[in-house]
Amino acid sequence: MENQRNIEKVVNLAKRRGFIFPSSEIYGGLSASYDYGPLGVELKNNIKKAWWKMFVTDRMDMVGLDAAIIMHPKVWEASGHVDNFSDPLVECKKCHKRFRYDHLLEDNSLEPKHDKAKPIDPKDIVCPECGGQLTDVKQFNMMFKTFMGPVEDSASVVYLRPETAGGIFVNFKNVLETQRMKLPFGIAQIGKAFRNEITTENFIFRTREFEQMEVEYFVNPKDWKKHFEAWLETMRNWCELIGLDKKNVVEKEIKDGDRAHYSKRTVDFEYKFPFGQKELYGLAYRTDYDLIQHEKFSKEDLKYTDPISREKFIPHVIEPSLGVDRSVLAALLSAYTEVEGGRSTTTKAIKDVEVVLRLPYALAPIKITVLPLSKKEPLTKLSQEILLKLKKNFVCAYDETASIGKRYRRQDEIGTPYCLTVDFDSLEDNKVTIRDRDSMKQDRVAIDDLESYFREKLNY
Ligand code: ATP
Repeated sequence: MENQRNIEKVVNLAKRRGFIFPSSEIYGGLSASYDYGPLGVELKNNIKKAWWKMFVTDRMDMVGLDAAIIMHPKVWEASGHVDNFSDPLVECKKCHKRFRYDHLLEDNSLEPKHDKAKPIDPKDIVCPECGGQLTDVKQFNMMFKTFMGPVEDSASVVYLRPETAGGIFVNFKNVLETQRMKLPFGIAQIGKAFRNEITTENFIFRTREFEQMEVEYFVNPKDWKKHFEAWLETMRNWCELIGLDKKNVVEKEIKDGDRAHYSKRTVDFEYKFPFGQKELYGLAYRTDYDLIQHEKFSKEDLKYTDPISREKFIPHVIEPSLGVDRSVLAALLSAYTEVEGGRSTTTKAIKDVEVVLRLPYALAPIKITVLPLSKKEPLTKLSQEILLKLKKNFVCAYDETASIGKRYRRQDEIGTPYCLTVDFDSLEDNKVTIRDRDSMKQDRVAIDDLESYFREKLNY
């Protein structure tokens, strides 16, 4: 039973079963824009819910925030994004395709001897598409600009936030004062971020509109190492919770010189995607850079006073930064399993490849699907009654078409942990058959006990 990690198969499944559609598809789609369909939105929401629980509500030292996407433009001047949030861009002089220079360096194994900002030496790198000569490197700012109000002039320029962190820093004082927080504490936010990426790639891995789950954790600088280690551990636990195999997650210590200028330590969590080992998440020690900058630009006092020593200082920050969409992709790839020759035992064995999406139960879009053995009364009536009751507490689906074996396979393919079959005996003994996605074991359970049975099985 080989875990096939094939991106094309996952993209097809995602489209075919309503997880992820190309955006604006009836108009031919929009490059690297995707829409989450009925199953995708459940999966994505489950990831966000699980993250919020693990990173916020299960803890004593965390609070949440939901800041505006369009913020005062000074926020991005203070953070350095207006001046520095750029990627090195090169263009092919022949076919005019554009590339990120640092990606080309990586692809040609040229780091670190190359200076990212230096003119290109044509002997070293040519256009990967047509072999043409490349232009010199230009810095391209990735922030999406727009105008606030009816006048399109420089005074009304605003940006779509390129990361959620900005909203957290500018609310540091509000949160500190209203919640009477004491160090160490963190503020978490989940939300959309926008980056005008030069190139987009690999399905939902790199898009221009995406979602982030970020924490800014404020600490006394003398303790930063200890907190950094603790967050590393939390991120490892998170990877496990969403079903990522340890051997596919690589922690990469980012070297001096490769880190963002404000960071004293960064560890990237890379995932072995089918298209290469690439960044999934990042953990950065951002020092006091952001709060100092915002203090300078806003002229507000953003210091913290230690309640015991009365020492006044700018807290330092540890930042776990996680992409929602990359989590969805890694979780789908990890869960995607093909079983050669099939594993059906209930019907005439269908001897082709069966797909099972072994998502952790907490992430599965649908927890229980109710299947009446026949699509006629009175089985359908009883099935609907059970469905309505279960739906109050669990996300459920209903399927009465095709053979029971086919229906099981449909549910396996979308990762539904439990199928509930209502048969003719159910009318007599008031019991139904529950079939487990992974073991395919079947339990006969009394209808009255279903709620507690599923609460235990699904850990609700
Ligand atoms: P990359 O090197 O891949 O461009 P980054 O280092 O710029 O990523 P960060 O600024 O650290 O990324 O952003 C934090 C997280 O947000 C990333 O670890 C990733 O999960 C997610 N993310 C960043 N850019 C994108 C994007 N264009 N599409 C989807 N997710 C993204």
